[in-house]
Amino acid sequence: MENKTCKLKDKCGACQLLHLSYPDTIEYKKNYVLDCMKKEGIKASIDKTIPAKFPYAYRNKMIIGFQMDKNHKLNCGFYEENSHKIIDLDECLMHSAIQNKIAKFIKKLVIDFKVSIYDEDRRRGLLRYVLIREAIHTNEILITFVLSDDIFPSSKEIVKRITSEFKEVKTIAQNINNRKTSIVLGEKEKILYGKGYIEDLLMGLRFKITSKSFYQVNPIQVEHLYKEVINALKFDSSETIIDAYSGIGTIGLILSKNVGRVISVENNRQAYLAAIQNAKDNNIRNVHFVNADATEFIKEIENEKIDYVIMDPPRTGSTNQFLNSLLKLQPKGIIYVSCGPDTLARDLKVLLSKYKIEHISLVDMFCFTKHVESVCLLTNRAENTGKNML
Ligand code: SAH
Repeated sequence: MENKTCKLKDKCGACQLLHLSYPDTIEYKKNYVLDCMKKEGIKASIDKTIPAKFPYAYRNKMIIGFQMDKNHKLNCGFYEENSHKIIDLDECLMHSAIQNKIAKFIKKLVIDFKVSIYDEDRRRGLLRYVLIREAIHTNEILITFVLSDDIFPSSKEIVKRITSEFKEVKTIAQNINNRKTSIVLGEKEKILYGKGYIEDLLMGLRFKITSKSFYQVNPIQVEHLYKEVINALKFDSSETIIDAYSGIGTIGLILSKNVGRVISVENNRQAYLAAIQNAKDNNIRNVHFVNADATEFIKEIENEKIDYVIMDPPRTGSTNQFLNSLLKLQPKGIIYVSCGPDTLARDLKVLLSKYKIEHISLVDMFCFTKHVESVCLLTNRAENTGKNML
């Protein structure tokens, strides 16, 4: 397949590998993971790679900023790399056609209705960002206008124009963010249209998505990632599993029908509450949710019997205390899902005192960027392994 060409004159910098052919980006990522392992003195091989079938238009979330340039021309799009300048969006290859179309349509509405644009330096004006989220399995779209004030002139007309043009738009929200910050969303939110959320399907389960929900950005590849996690182990419905760094509970909820019990641990309160709601919405009763720091939690239960631990920490990886508690807890297997190969290697080095690497898969979730997701299965050297593992 020929590479598509990014039409943005100034680059936003997200697709660092667009100069390589897609297969070469996968090689690049494989080598990067292996280099990280080598640096920590770990001998490892990549057993499986899962590239995307179609490496474009994969992102289900688009955030566009607004800015007036010196000539009073409105720019609407992403920030230029390492700057505070907004590049006017023509079409972003990593977002779907409909997201690009909605972004352009909104730009036109902003001009037509003379919506004032927020000026970061003078802290004046109204419109800061627009967030577009798409649920690809249900075809539902959520739009959030982030404004500096709760008064939104012409909002009724704007909502009407959007919803009559795009039937997929099921919810429109107004978020109020008047703080001097680069964080996009503020606390307060009003629903202008619809129920306030959209729903997506993931591995047969339903998940509610609001403006603020955490949801993986590549909904096709994330299913491959979760399948790697589920298929790494053979369960007999009796096991107790910990799903650490669980976000909105996805991995534990998906696994729940294969195992006896899941304990899902997440420190972000909103994600934890969303996880409880997701369990209710899907009638799942064998997942217990804990709102705590993963390190604190695992320290407290290090003498209990846990069969397997799945951990999916942020890019910064886990903590030494967490890893040492894990070594005391001694589950039969650990599945480490990582979006940071350097911290994965650093953490594996600690775990390798009692565990061995059984299998590493790479899933290309963030095509054409430098980021890569790995799933690493570790088995306890003291266990009679083989039987339960791949
Ligand atoms: N497993 C989830 C989310 C992974 S992202 C999924 O597949 O979608 C990592 C998650 O770890 C985030 O939700 C973040 O809030 C959470 N987190 C970060 N530090 C943590 C800590 N110290 N203890 C518990 N959770 C933490």
